[in-house]
Amino acid sequence: MPKLLVTLSDLPVEGRVFSGEIRPDLFGLTGPYDPQFVPPLHYEVQVRRDDGDVIVEGKLEARFQLQCSRCAARLPWRVRMEPYFSCEEQEGDTLDLTAQFREDILLALPGYPRCEESNVEPQPCQKEGAFAPDSEFVPLTGEEPSDAPQPDVWQVLDHLPPGGPLPDR
Ligand SMILES: [Zn+2]
Repeated sequence: MPKLLVTLSDLPVEGRVFSGEIRPDLFGLTGPYDPQFVPPLHYEVQVRRDDGDVIVEGKLEARFQLQCSRCAARLPWRVRMEPYFSCEEQEGDTLDLTAQFREDILLALPGYPRCEESNVEPQPCQKEGAFAPDSEFVPLTGEEPSDAPQPDVWQVLDHLPPGGPLPDR
């Protein structure tokens, strides 16, 4: 897996622009329900140093095939981060842009996507209506749903002191 490494001490004061596309699968997700990367990932970012921080800003775009959390069909998904902005404390002299892009794009993916929510090609979900109440739906993550009782939000409000949730001034 080639990495996009930036030597920070080589950067001019005004920073430097890095752009191109990444085709190898930098996400490395192999689980049956994991998002599948559809190459390439497009990037165009400026990297600069600012008082001990490293600032990366520009734009990223990547395509995925996600699995519908209801019917398990694949659905296309596009992550477009424009503007993309990141400001992290500088650690060492090398910035691995590949790792940073990977992490930020994964965080931008939806946890429980559905066919009709695709931002590329929405489709009616085949299981629409099969699980009537959403609360009884068990996601296909292999994790057990929590059985812990959820606090009733209205009961919590009832226990607030008179005068409402804001403290008296
Ligand atoms: Zn579906």
